[in-house]
Amino acid sequence: MTDSDLLSRHRAVLPDWLALYYSEPIEIVRAQGRRVTDSLGRTYLDFFAGILTNAIGYDVREISDAVRAQLDTGVLHTSTLYLIRRQVELAERIAELSGIPGAKVFFTNSGTEANETALMLATQYRRSNQVLALRNSYHGRAFATVGVTGNRGWSASALSPVKVSYVHGGYRYRGPFAGLSDADYVAACVDDLRDVLATTTSGDVAALIAEPIQGVGGFNVPPDGLLGAFKEVLDEHGILLISDEVQTGWGRTGEHFWGIEAHGVTPDVMTFAKGLGNGLAIGGVVARGEVMDCLGANSISTFGGNPVATAGAKATLDYLLDNDLQGNAAKLGDRIIAGLRDLGDRYGVVGDVRGKGLMIGVELVEPGGTEPSPPAAGVVLEETKARGLLVGKGGLHNNVIRLAPPMTLTDEEAGEALDILGEAIAVADEERRRA
Ligand code: PMP
Repeated sequence: MTDSDLLSRHRAVLPDWLALYYSEPIEIVRAQGRRVTDSLGRTYLDFFAGILTNAIGYDVREISDAVRAQLDTGVLHTSTLYLIRRQVELAERIAELSGIPGAKVFFTNSGTEANETALMLATQYRRSNQVLALRNSYHGRAFATVGVTGNRGWSASALSPVKVSYVHGGYRYRGPFAGLSDADYVAACVDDLRDVLATTTSGDVAALIAEPIQGVGGFNVPPDGLLGAFKEVLDEHGILLISDEVQTGWGRTGEHFWGIEAHGVTPDVMTFAKGLGNGLAIGGVVARGEVMDCLGANSISTFGGNPVATAGAKATLDYLLDNDLQGNAAKLGDRIIAGLRDLGDRYGVVGDVRGKGLMIGVELVEPGGTEPSPPAAGVVLEETKARGLLVGKGGLHNNVIRLAPPMTLTDEEAGEALDILGEAIAVADEERRRA
């Protein structure tokens, strides 16, 4: 059952490309902890957390109190033309956490806007509109970011103002470098980077932008150190490294606070969004001071870093750090990955299980082979929902189930999700065998 009136009004007035999940889309009207309730009173365990926006769960008193205190002043926002105390405090925290020497921070309202800003800074700083990006990447929906997005399904416009060359370096399950050892994969990707630089660019490239673990692309985990190996090549040419931490930031990967740390390298620029606001719209860029300050004119975001968003963000950051949610993500991530690998041993429809912390992908294939199976992913999406679990989908072929619950997840909830996933995967396996 779905609210068919609301659905037809949605379809009439919102764009066709604004995709909705589920054959019967749901409307979430209440939430608490890691559970959300829809308009028909059904409750679900949320293993997608609003595409990772909800870092610490719903209805958290510390966050609501911080936001409410700001609302009570009567100031939702005036203007970033005036001093905003909490914006300064949050920028100081993020600059320090970034590890980038002499870092400066600029706040935006989304990840797209953060990456647009990062690309504008890098191209301006380097006086070049040539950019490198990874195949299978996703960096946003606006003009430059859609250009550096290396995933056909999300390349909504081909008219980007940046000249982009794509390199290998995210996805390992398929493609010419599939099956290589970590060391050989890194070596092959570095060779590819050198080749792409030499053959498709003039050499004076502005930046390489990369997600340390690709999100929309299907939670693709490269070998640790890959982006560090890339940075050595980039440094030979003065090319900046932009780490897109929109999904991998704030400890979600478990072992590190930022995804890039697994690569043993400090980037020149990092972008962030999603989890920082725990549902409020906030994003931003943190960059080396000289890169941040290279613009030759004024630039302002009317709402970026407004008092309400920064109140929620600061409370979220405090909560994340005070409660070691990174440690919780590491522990429960390991448990869920192990549980899914067991399912992989039992069901041929599971082609690959990968991830770090609470960023876990299950790539589904036609049983008996490795052909991508978007229908199997569709079955798992519907069957988990029918059993009270929300999960995400992604990957180049739309055949990867993505799991990214709030980082406050409990052991019991992890077990509950694994049980439901086991049942849903069994149904998908059976259906694809019969198909
Ligand atoms: N970068 C990455 C890695 C993302 O996953 C996303 C959103 N899925 C974005 C950028 C764009 O963020 P937003 O949707 O907030 O504009």
